Amino acid sequence: MYNELKERDKAVNWHPYTQMKTAGDAIPITHGKGVYLYDNEGNKYIDAVSSWWVTLHGHAHPYIARRVFEQLNTLEQVIFAGFTHEPAIKLSENLLQLLPDNQKKVFYSDNGSSAVEVALKMCIQYAYNQGKSKTKIIAFKDAYHGDTFGAMSVSGRSVWTNPFKNMLFEVIFIDTPNHENIKDLKKQISNIAAETACFIYEPLVQGSAGMVMHQAEDLSELMKFCRQQEILMIQDEVFTGFGRTGKLFAADHLSEKPDIMCFSKGLTGGTMPMGITTCSDEIYNAFLSDDKHKTLFHGHSFTANPLACTAALASMELLLQKTTLSDIHRISEQHRQFTDILKNHPQADKVRQTGTILAWEYKTHQKTSYFNEIGKILHQEFLQKGVLIRPLGNVIYLVPPYCITSEELDFVYNTIIQIIDRKRI
Ligand SMILES: *Cc1c(COP(=O)(O)O)cnc(C)c1O
Repeated sequence: MYNELKERDKAVNWHPYTQMKTAGDAIPITHGKGVYLYDNEGNKYIDAVSSWWVTLHGHAHPYIARRVFEQLNTLEQVIFAGFTHEPAIKLSENLLQLLPDNQKKVFYSDNGSSAVEVALKMCIQYAYNQGKSKTKIIAFKDAYHGDTFGAMSVSGRSVWTNPFKNMLFEVIFIDTPNHENIKDLKKQISNIAAETACFIYEPLVQGSAGMVMHQAEDLSELMKFCRQQEILMIQDEVFTGFGRTGKLFAADHLSEKPDIMCFSKGLTGGTMPMGITTCSDEIYNAFLSDDKHKTLFHGHSFTANPLACTAALASMELLLQKTTLSDIHRISEQHRQFTDILKNHPQADKVRQTGTILAWEYKTHQKTSYFNEIGKILHQEFLQKGVLIRPLGNVIYLVPPYCITSEELDFVYNTIIQIIDRKRI
């Protein structure tokens, strides 16, 4: 059937992470409400991946909408160099209160990749400002920290970064920690500690790698060692922040504190683009000087945009409500029960869960990878049943908005079972 929006979209839009030659039509979404997205042909879909992991409280949340509308009529934007505004002050105050108590200053940008760029520049210049030459960076294998050049450099080398590989700076990649390898990891780190500026990591869950998880106690031990070796730690909570792991932040599972933290995705409840990089006073103080060369020369046109700050304030209010915190708990518990079913399912392998994040591998003859063809097929089949799930290759995962009800979640689980039960060749 001819669908005008689909045709017009094809004529002008280039979609992210999409091979435009072979991709089918993009589905025109006309509106969203709560956990549902509605297309222009009258179909509705449960958004079980929170629209790329950003939507915390459901779509078109009326409270966030009202707050942003009021702000839009008051102050929509102001240059943040030499000027400030209450939404940015209040958001920084409120956020810092929830973070490890060494986090003291907030630097604004507009997406997760930029928040990571800022963090990396803070670490490198922290050394530079003290006349030290520390330029090595450590990251986890298969990490994902974003798509700008610095963020790509600290991400695992893959098909995503191949065309640029000669232009990415050198990074030392280590395995994620477990009981067996922790000694070896420490040895690798201590060999290069003197020249190392920082260690950047996704805490507990490596999202884009396929929701690969490691244990809080092992990461804490690794962090403790980095602290002893005077290696700065950048904790990228762009994905794990704001309740995803069952606690407000992945930091709440860990016994050690990072020097720098990055946030985006759920920060505004998924309503507006914004990035935040927070840091300790130790980092911040290294940039205080009468020498102008020690300034952090970084900023974006929309740094601390008042609308985005207001959306974040409203979203955080909703997040801290007792009902939302119990929703997070409820979803985590319901996921846990579903893992028992999956673990006994012949098509499911490596079932894993951290809080509201549930993932497993769908068994196929192809190996587990982003290019495993089954992902696309399953994605289409889920859509036909009214559920938006976007597997990473053959890794199927759920990251639902916190407003999803038990019944809706059961519907998602039942749909999954129906589809993975299907006989395939
Ligand atoms: C998504 C993501 C980023 C990049 O954020 P964007 O807003 O997409 O640029 C960085 N780090 C992690 C851990 C992410 O999941």
